[in-house]
Amino acid sequence: MPVSAPAARSTPVAEGGERGGRKLSQQQPPGDGAGAPGMEPGPGKEAGPPRFEPCGPWLVQVRFATGLTSEDYVSQKGWLSARLECCPLHPEGGCGFARHTMYARVYPAGCWIARYYCRRGHTTFSLLPEFLCSRLTGTLAEVEAAVAAVEAAPTQEAASEVVRPAVELPGALRWLRRRSRLVHAGLAAVIGLLPGLLAGQTPTVTGIRSALGAEEVLVRLRGEVVEHLAALPPPLGFGPRPARRRPKATALQQEAGPDPPLATR
Ligand SMILES: [Zn+2]
Repeated sequence: MPVSAPAARSTPVAEGGERGGRKLSQQQPPGDGAGAPGMEPGPGKEAGPPRFEPCGPWLVQVRFATGLTSEDYVSQKGWLSARLECCPLHPEGGCGFARHTMYARVYPAGCWIARYYCRRGHTTFSLLPEFLCSRLTGTLAEVEAAVAAVEAAPTQEAASEVVRPAVELPGALRWLRRRSRLVHAGLAAVIGLLPGLLAGQTPTVTGIRSALGAEEVLVRLRGEVVEHLAALPPPLGFGPRPARRRPKATALQQEAGPDPPLATR
């Protein structure tokens, strides 16, 4: 199996924080949740903010091509063979790039993520297996199945009874809508990136599955757009979430007026 994630294919991106964020503690305990990828609150805790704090350390996710299923990754401890050959920020070396402490995903159980740390760049790199969601719990296959269920159901309420039967309706709907919104945004972006493959297709799981003649598409698509993952929304990409459509009142006011004068200092 491939055991390395070549730096040339890595896609650094600020993970929930601004560039130049704080340095991670060298003794971070496993399971730290300070904005780390995939460290979502547990089941049933998605009811409201805060979810991710946007003030975490600078974390960068890198796609780790394991060729494994999530079950095999856990049973074979795939994180132990994860390698970053050199620092993505400083391929020339000399920056104090070294292995960092691992962190545990909430789910799947027993799933750990290998990390590296660049001392000069104060940046931690997480080697995310290709099948795991970025910034959401679970696997891409699971989130894909949930979104497909929403698309196939007559209503979101009906879908929630199938996908999230044990969760009260408002929470289940939020859970489903969040995933649908993120996955559809990612698919729309991927269609633009792969015009030869997907031009004119509908940015839905159902539509892309049909176009590709595949039963599952998200893991494959992540591999097709490796160079762009930093800009794509999670859970497919490693970039920021798309902006909410709700405009702020101040934005509306600004739109109504003339352009502000250029600042002169
Ligand atoms: Zn470095």
